[in-house]
Amino acid sequence: RSGAALTAQSARKVSAPTVSAISRRYINQDVRITRTGKPILTVAGGRSSLGGYTATVFGATGFLGRYIVNKLARSGCTVIVPYREEMAKRHLKVTGDLGRVVFLEMDLRNTPSIEESVRHSDIVYNLIGRDYPTKNFELEDVHVEGTERIVEAVAKYDIDRYVHVSSYNAHPEHPAEFFRTKGQGEQVARSIYPETTIVRPAPMYGREDRLLNSLAAQKSIVTSNWMQEKFRPVHVIDVATGLENMLHDDTTAAQTYELYGPKEYSMEELNTIVSKETYRQIRHINLPEKVAKPLFKYVNKALWWPIKSEPQVEREFYNQVIDPNAKTFKDLEIEPAELMSLTYEYLKSYRSEEYYDLAPMSEKEKREQKKYLHVID
Ligand code: NDP
Repeated sequence: RSGAALTAQSARKVSAPTVSAISRRYINQDVRITRTGKPILTVAGGRSSLGGYTATVFGATGFLGRYIVNKLARSGCTVIVPYREEMAKRHLKVTGDLGRVVFLEMDLRNTPSIEESVRHSDIVYNLIGRDYPTKNFELEDVHVEGTERIVEAVAKYDIDRYVHVSSYNAHPEHPAEFFRTKGQGEQVARSIYPETTIVRPAPMYGREDRLLNSLAAQKSIVTSNWMQEKFRPVHVIDVATGLENMLHDDTTAAQTYELYGPKEYSMEELNTIVSKETYRQIRHINLPEKVAKPLFKYVNKALWWPIKSEPQVEREFYNQVIDPNAKTFKDLEIEPAELMSLTYEYLKSYRSEEYYDLAPMSEKEKREQKKYLHVID
């Protein structure tokens, strides 16, 4: 090919917008009609757009919450963030333009505060969840009773869409308390608001996760199942993208989605990956279930910082089971990321200070290496 033809081709490559750029430009444009026929004026222009949807995100102060708030706010939506702790929500303020991220104080047992949070919204996301019981909230209080109050408010104010974030393996009769209460929460949500969109994420990883980070940050980990549980870790940003797409696609109403990564790993395999990436060995202690459950039950309530709990020990004994009837990332036109392509990015800061990138010195280099003696002051 001639040089001119090559230049013209590379110029075309540079100027041609990618598919994702096109969809992002038009995703929030023009008048949109919601499921119940309400017109929403949206103008392309990103975070400074006028109009747009109003979305309430319960549980926005958590790990997944920051990503979905960021995605909504930067596309010009007004985001209501119900919160319960002043300092926990500050980072969300800058995700949107001035006045676009609105904070409202809320308590899960205070129905008027929940109603206040949802009544002007077009969509409500419920991301509230806990891995462990606390002094004031058992898992049932958070996953079942809390859900009931939120969904009742959603139904009372006739909100267009309700998206409920549950968990992988959620089932109302599951032997493990966490999965059982998550399953019961789904049931309650669907019984009050049948158009509920249920999202069941696999264990999520990302910058602030409790999966890779908790392995990398500890010198030793305590488990009860010899790290044999298997699951399909999912990238948190893929889950947030899925949640954002649900706002723009009303066919996702009343559907159940299981969002999981492309490859299955056991906890042991993840531990090896983290050890390799951080260049250090993580010690593993296995406590039998009979010892671990009562021990963590007591310790978790006695200490005031989060530590492993009885329901977390229980969860170790169950692999992730995929519901064949549930929809997946494919139905949302998302290609989930592979964990191995991101571990370097997320774990490099944990590398031991003894490790450096240069090849070891040869004998000759060692002999010729000059030694300087510094005299300071
Ligand atoms: P986080 O634990 O990071 O965040 C949980 C959120 O729920 C926080 O905003 C927290 O508020 C809020 N919350 C918890 N208890 C209460 C309560 N009693 N009253 C009011 N708010 C409460 O969760 P993730 O972001 O990691 O996960 C989001 C959802 O996905 C959760 O429902 C979780 O159970 C589920 N999930 C997560 C998985 C994962 O790997 N992370 C795997 C499977 C499911 P505050 O900041 O005030 O404490």
